[in-house]
Amino acid sequence: MKAGLYIRVSTDEQAKHGFSIRAQKDKLTKFATSQDWDIEDYYIEEGVSAKDMLRPELSRMFEDIKTGKIDVVLVYKLDRITRSVRDLYNILDLLEQHNCKFKSATEVYDTTSAIGRMFITLVASFAQFERENLGERVRMGMERMMEEGKFTGGISPFGYHYNKEAKTLVIDDDEAQVLRLIFDSYMRGLGEERTAKKVNQMGHTTRNGTTWTGKTIRDILTNPVAAGHLRWGGEVYRNFVDPIISEDQFQQCLKLRESRREMSPRAAGPSHYPFSGILKCGRCGAALKGQYRVGRVKEDGSRSKFKHYVCTKARGGSCDFKQISDTVVNDVFLKRLNQDLKDYQTALDKEKDAQQEVSNIEKETRYLEAQINKIQSRKRKWQLAYADEAITLEELKERTAEDREAHEILTKQLDELKQEQPDADPVYMVDALTDFIENWHELDDQEKKITLQLFVERVVIDAEDRRGTKTQLRQAWITDIVYK
Ligand SMILES: [Zn+2]
Repeated sequence: MKAGLYIRVSTDEQAKHGFSIRAQKDKLTKFATSQDWDIEDYYIEEGVSAKDMLRPELSRMFEDIKTGKIDVVLVYKLDRITRSVRDLYNILDLLEQHNCKFKSATEVYDTTSAIGRMFITLVASFAQFERENLGERVRMGMERMMEEGKFTGGISPFGYHYNKEAKTLVIDDDEAQVLRLIFDSYMRGLGEERTAKKVNQMGHTTRNGTTWTGKTIRDILTNPVAAGHLRWGGEVYRNFVDPIISEDQFQQCLKLRESRREMSPRAAGPSHYPFSGILKCGRCGAALKGQYRVGRVKEDGSRSKFKHYVCTKARGGSCDFKQISDTVVNDVFLKRLNQDLKDYQTALDKEKDAQQEVSNIEKETRYLEAQINKIQSRKRKWQLAYADEAITLEELKERTAEDREAHEILTKQLDELKQEQPDADPVYMVDALTDFIENWHELDDQEKKITLQLFVERVVIDAEDRRGTKTQLRQAWITDIVYK
């Protein structure tokens, strides 16, 4: 018998052990020799897939079959020659026409009988079915894992890292800190670009070590994972991970983004009163409501409009607070913020020593937390050791008891330490106020309104009764301000 040895590896398989051209060639040569066949030729395809029959060596082999040069085709496995039932059918047909046999070195096929040929096509059709369903099954398996709260791969989103043992995403403390900074900064009115600039200035990079851009900031701001909901495979898995920021903050941030988009020059929406909802009357405590007052007729015939706030009790006559213009409110509000910023800065300077103390406490806290984590992972190890019969039940009890005791002591120390932690508010307030004041003038009314609502609980205002003049604004003052 004159044998043609067909050998094929795909690009993927080249990396795999045991599938190399040499391995196939060796095995086929031995097989042919054992059968007392003359090896007529080798047809070797490298880095070629079996998805179709457009293969140069395969074509050459077909020619040789047609001219009767070979009368048996030998392959290492059926899938070397084809992965398609239809192609296999055609190949077997061609072989039969030219009285050529087909043999696999590792599988038992007899193509000399009709039943043998039916069997081989049956096997091939099962193989094809398997392959086509594999992708589907893998996807379904991954979805099931996701539903069980297990992360099935891909890159963990910023703020989280993958815990291999538990197959879950856990908060990455360092990245979470940057993520919070991004949300806080954006919500204080810094746009995407300015938030990026600020985060870069503070020395934080993306996970790849590159600087932050408006685009990468936007990706963070629009990914619900920060609030615990993982986007995966076109679905959102709610409460999949521990949230880094609250749902509330995430939603408000989205709202702020939307308002910024809507308020682009081309699509100026309805006007808003930035202070409505938080501004209270300094005389009666009632809410101040936004209102337009139409002014003089301008040269072009239109009337100028002035934004005012009016005490809701003034109309009924139970309060004598006169309407106050948005300009005056803006002015005194910013003055007050600047004053508060100064105060917090002074407080911060005084607390420099206290700051040192804070960082010491933080270090100690982190140390204690690490120790506690160690004990917890050790507990698992003892249990595994016991399960493997590496230690006795007595030893297991003894060791877990020791650990439990240490765990209690450490937890107690940690609780005490946490109580010692001084109020870190000044640091936060200086940062927040600086951002807020710097960006205030860049915001339009709607943006002002949203950022105000996020940042300030209430502003109580009072003013002198007389109206302001062209040269002097009406005197007003903030009697109380409560930050959120
Ligand atoms: Zn009032």
